[in-house]
Amino acid sequence: MLTDLNIWDGTTIVDADAIAIEQGTITAIGSSTELLPAGRAAAKQRRSYAGATAIPGLIDAHVHMVLNPDDRQPPAATDMPDTAAMAERAASMVRAGITTARDLGGGAWLEIALRDRINTGELEGPRLLCAGQPITCPGGHCHFWNGEAADADAAAAVIRRQVEQRADWIKVMATGGRMTRGSNPLQPQFDLAMMRAIVATARAAGRPVAAHCHGTAGISIAAQAGVNSIEHCSWVGEAGWAADYQTAIADTIADNGVWVSPTVNSGWQRILDGGGARLSRIRHALKAMLAIDIPFMASTDAGIPGVYHHQLPHALEVFAAITESSAERTLRSATSQAAVGLGISSQTGCLKPGLAADLLVVDGDPLVDLSALMRPVEVWARGRPLLSEH
Ligand SMILES: [Zn+2]
Repeated sequence: MLTDLNIWDGTTIVDADAIAIEQGTITAIGSSTELLPAGRAAAKQRRSYAGATAIPGLIDAHVHMVLNPDDRQPPAATDMPDTAAMAERAASMVRAGITTARDLGGGAWLEIALRDRINTGELEGPRLLCAGQPITCPGGHCHFWNGEAADADAAAAVIRRQVEQRADWIKVMATGGRMTRGSNPLQPQFDLAMMRAIVATARAAGRPVAAHCHGTAGISIAAQAGVNSIEHCSWVGEAGWAADYQTAIADTIADNGVWVSPTVNSGWQRILDGGGARLSRIRHALKAMLAIDIPFMASTDAGIPGVYHHQLPHALEVFAAITESSAERTLRSATSQAAVGLGISSQTGCLKPGLAADLLVVDGDPLVDLSALMRPVEVWARGRPLLSEH
């Protein structure tokens, strides 16, 4: 039993100060006087967090467990990732309050092995949803992860391989990216017919699709094909990053119920500090999408150079400043809303009886000041307290 808390349940502040947890699940939320059974044994189980706020554990909708943020070069297809370092990254995430993350690409399914070891309780880490090898065109973005496909049949073979390896999602590179030499972020990698075929094949296998999209043409193709989530959604045009926002395409994203995972990392503080035209363009594109209620799920693309896996709490503060969003709206995008976008709202994302006991307890009130997220007092991941033994 956790007591003396302020509680924000993923949507709203609740009139309660105590959370009961049994076997990894939240069993009740209410007042401590009602919930707390009398007697010395009960008092022993009580963990008091006076002055702290409990919120659902955070969700980062786009990470790469296999990537080392200290590497400046993309990996080679023959690189064997360091699995001990992957386990350390997972521990650093969950200790920062990130209790769920979606991994959107690796070459050797090592993140799936990590997911399974976390699920058994052998390793500390967030609940992971994994996509395995992303589908890309020959020589395309992240081709070193071995998911190249020249046509729809080849793409279906890549999808089959990911399903055999028990991937949860399918990732497709709808445009080029910055990390891969020779690929162009501006250009689509697949036409609409092939993107539709990829979505249909993945859906038939019960897997949702995440599409990496920088250039506006690729965003349009992914939105029309009805992918589940658009990653980055950078609106890159000839005039530069975020320079080609198009209302009609944004309307298609909204109409097709496509989620946007904007991969705003804490390093974007530099964009805020830099101000000027670049900040205005990025702010305009993000705010325009939020204004028509395109659903957002918070994400950082952790693993790319300089973006560390545990930094979502800081990234949320930067996202709120760039988009001039309230703390509550920002927090929803990283909790209750993200869980809906990832299809796991029956497991996590809210503090509600019946859901997993995934909680971040912070010093202060993150609804007033998001920097409170960087002062974790305790993290409960599927009912396990990680930071301290009270
Ligand atoms: Zn990525």
